[in-house]
Amino acid sequence: MQDRCLESIESLVKKVLKENDHQLYKWGVQSHTPEEWYVITAEEFGEVAKAIQEYKYRGGKIEDVIKELIQASTLMLKMTEMYIYEAREIKEVAKHGSGQKVGDY
Ligand SMILES: [Mg+2]
Repeated sequence: MQDRCLESIESLVKKVLKENDHQLYKWGVQSHTPEEWYVITAEEFGEVAKAIQEYKYRGGKIEDVIKELIQASTLMLKMTEMYIYEAREIKEVAKHGSGQKVGDY
């Protein structure tokens, strides 16, 4: 399988946004510790692994692999966004004379 270099990024973003809507409908806006977010995301990675195995060895559907990858990707992007916001907050504190200095985001 060859890297497609995100040539279909617009389509991928649409799928992630649709999955985000689904997650918000199902769970609402959630608040967890970083460790809990990681565990939730790791569970999704496990589902990706299972879907790949099912597809490769037991007649599973390729659509299920894609679905699980989008679910995991959505959570990874949510975590990335939360850390970017946290980094901005730390940078704001640093501007006012205390806190940890970070790079630009
Ligand atoms: Mg899943």
